[in-house]
Formats: sequence, structure tokens, C-alpha cells
Amino acid sequence: MKILYVTSEANPFAASGGLGDVMGALPAAVAAVEGNECEVIMPLYDIMKAQYRERLELVLDMSFNLSWRHTGASVYRLTENGVNYYFVENHYYFERGRLYGEYDDAERFAFFSRAVVEYMLHSGNIPDILHANDWQTAPAIIYLKTEYSHIEALKKVKTVYTIHNIEYQGKFGSQLLSEVFGLDPIYRGVVDFDGCINLMKGAIVTSDFITTVSPNYARELEYDFFAFGLSSIIKAASHKMRGVINGIDYGYFSPETGGDIYFPYNTRNYKSGKAKNKAALQAEVGLPQIPDVPLAVMITRFASQKGIDLVLHIMDELLSENVQVIVLGTGEKEYEDAFRAMEARHPNFKALIKFDRVISKKMYAGADIFLMPSKSEPCGLAQMIACSYGTIPIVRSVGGLYDSIKNYGEEGANGFRFDNYNAHELLFTIKDALELYKNPKKWNALTASAKKSNFTWENSAKEYISIYNNLV
Ligand code: ADP
Repeated sequence: MKILYVTSEANPFAASGGLGDVMGALPAAVAAVEGNECEVIMPLYDIMKAQYRERLELVLDMSFNLSWRHTGASVYRLTENGVNYYFVENHYYFERGRLYGEYDDAERFAFFSRAVVEYMLHSGNIPDILHANDWQTAPAIIYLKTEYSHIEALKKVKTVYTIHNIEYQGKFGSQLLSEVFGLDPIYRGVVDFDGCINLMKGAIVTSDFITTVSPNYARELEYDFFAFGLSSIIKAASHKMRGVINGIDYGYFSPETGGDIYFPYNTRNYKSGKAKNKAALQAEVGLPQIPDVPLAVMITRFASQKGIDLVLHIMDELLSENVQVIVLGTGEKEYEDAFRAMEARHPNFKALIKFDRVISKKMYAGADIFLMPSKSEPCGLAQMIACSYGTIPIVRSVGGLYDSIKNYGEEGANGFRFDNYNAHELLFTIKDALELYKNPKKWNALTASAKKSNFTWENSAKEYISIYNNLV
């Protein structure tokens, strides 16, 4: 089977979040299974590092029309982990110093999606499965099933669409339909929703299969609280939808071989390794170097989706306990300011307002507890990373957190879970964990079980392969 992944970002070439992680790992995991050939196509951004740019080979130059524009692109290729990555070059659209947030994002990603379909036609490199992701590449599926649906060579291509986060749907004014997207008005009904163009809706209705990044998130999307207006569309598509949980990169996030931490450790020297990492972390951030005080950390984007309000609400109360807390993150200013103020009030609290992969790994390694009380969480990777370092996650039972973390007391428990979006439920759950921490035998049993959790990409790749197989 030949699978072409269409994406606006992929690690390590250009990425801004979870989608980039998935596109950096899933294609290689699927390609590792015999009989599958995986390719990825993405824009060639100016921010891509020279070390990758130097390896590019030109595949073809092409020109095509999009609406009234006569336009074109060059397509380049490099191979990484057994996967061919194709890069669509257009200086005007993709040399902006960043991936998203431009005034003409609609046009940029309409162009890219159109270029993907044109690339298939120009190169004759036509996959069995075209797998698109999120709103930016939704038009690739929409084009295949509308403007290009009469082309014989493309008829056999089956389409899979993955929703990584339904909050970002690609909504634009209806007047862009022909002018920017180059869609004939007879297709208005495909993308029209709630008085505007909604690209995610268009891909949901036209794709052959839909996935989301965890089974529980797939169920939640039938409710408007989680679906940001698309619940009726999701319900109507539920017969062709499944949740497949993401994995993590155990090469990068391993306390033994992943690098970046003060003292590498494994299951055998877990206790001494954790203690040394904790002491070094306390020293680096300026917390008192007390060995037996439980250390809780949070590593997150500062966005309301992440449950920051709950944490802020109970933090003063929590910090009156025998506990240390470090928060690492950036994002909404009111949260950054609130955490800075918190640091001024409490000697046992540190706020690191930055994005820093190295210190994040030191925190996963040095901490005892990882806080992730999200309001919504399509999949979540941080709780899985915490488990890899034997750090106990405390999560809310939502989205992928529910699928990946079992509550203390349940069989196979690897953390603590609470149900309601309620600050004191979070506080009481943290207090339960602090109580358990006082009993080293029970605590160590729980950390061992967390470390054993298996969030490899191989498991998820198997599920995707079964979806692809069913389609072809
Ligand atoms: P989301 O994709 O919604 O941000 P995930 O839990 O799926 O949440 O992934 C977050 C990833 O980003 C994790 O690898 C986490 O460690 C990392 N991360 C988040 N904030 C920071 C930060 N300030 N510094 C370093 N890494 C961060």
C-alpha cells in the first residue's frame, strides 16, 4: 500500500505542535511494517534549517491554475527514516518567517492543497491512500472529491482525514469560494457551514474515513462542548470515524538514552536517578534542595484549554503544603503574569516563562508528579512523556488523558485522574498523591507501573494500517 500524508508541518523540518510530532513519527512507523510505502508532502518553509535544505533534490517544476491565478511550484524531496518527504516550494506563500497566522492563510493553504493534487498528476506518483490533517490540508481531500473527481487516474485514491484539534476549523468568508479556493459554486454545499466556508466540515463530509487522535475524543466530539459547533456534522459522520491514540518518541523521551537530563537512569536505578535529577533541578531553578519534598511540575502552553484556571485557583492552598511546584510554559499573558506573581509570593514555587525543550526534559526527569488538568485534550503527549520518566501524572478524565492514564486503585494504574472541571477536585486529587508519596513502597510501585505504560507508535501504526486496509 502506498500512503501519502499531506501536512502543513512535520518534525524535524518545520513544526509548531502535536501535528508536527505525529507527522514526524507515524509515517515511519507505518513504513516499518512490510508492504507499506509512506510519503509525506508539506510546504517548503524558509524557516527550515540549512542542514535539511542542503539534502533536497529537485523532483519537478509544475505550473497550474488556481481560480484566476496562473501559478506554480517546484517540488523537492529528501528521505528520512525510510520515508520520502516532499516539499512544495513557492517563495511568495511560504517565505514568511513563520508557519501560520498570516492574513492570507486561506490562500496559502488552498495553494498548497491544490499543489498536492497537481503534484500527483504531474508526477504520476499516485497513492492508494491520501491522508490529510487538520484544516490546512482539508482542501486536498475536498479538491479530489470535487474539481478533480472526473480524472480517471485519481479515482482509486481513498482519503483519510485526521482531526488533531477541532478548535481550529479553517473558517473563511463565503466570498472566497471561487476567488481564493477556486471551487465552482456547484460545490458550495460541500464547504458551507453556518454562513461561512468551513474547510474542516468539507473534509469531514467528503473523506472516506475520519480519525481523531484518541478514542475518547472521538466520542466527545458528538457533544457541542467539545466540537466547537461541528457536533451535528460529526454525528452524521460517526459511521466512518474512529479514534486512534498517538504515541510518543521513546528515542527522544527516554530517561536512559534520550539525553538532555542531568543523570540518565533506568528502571533499575530509578530511585537514585530520580533523586539526583531532582537535586540538580532544584539547584538549577533555585528551589531549596530538600530531597524528600514531593516536586510537582506542569509543562504546557498557557491556554485555557489546559486547565490553567484550576491550577491558579488552588495554587496558594497547595503551596501551603509540604510540596514544591515548577511551571514551564508560554502563552496567554494573563497566565504568564499570574504565575510570575505566584513566584513572588511563594519560595516553594518557580515559574519558567519560556519554551525550552531541554529544561522540559530535566523537569520530566526530576519531578515526582506531573499536573495536566485539561478542560479538553484531543490526545495529549505530556502525560505519556511523564510516564516514560516514571513521573506520576495527575490528569482530568477528558479526551486522550482518559484513554492513557488509569486512576490509582484501578488495575494497571499509572497515575491519578479526577472527573469534574473543579479546582478543589484537582486539589484533593493532588493531596491524595502527596499522601501516597509518604509511603515509598506504594509510591514506587505506582511509578514502576507508570514507567511500564506502553505508548509506542507501533501500536497506533497498526490501527492506521487496518483502517487503510479496509479502505483499499
Ligand atoms: P499540545 O499539543 O496541546 O500543546 P501535548 O501534550 O500534546 O499538548 O504536547 C505538548 C508538547 O509540548 C509536550 O512535548 C510538552 O513537553 C511540550 N511543551 C509544552 N510547553 C513547553 C515549553 N514551554 N517548553 C518545552 N516544551 C513544551
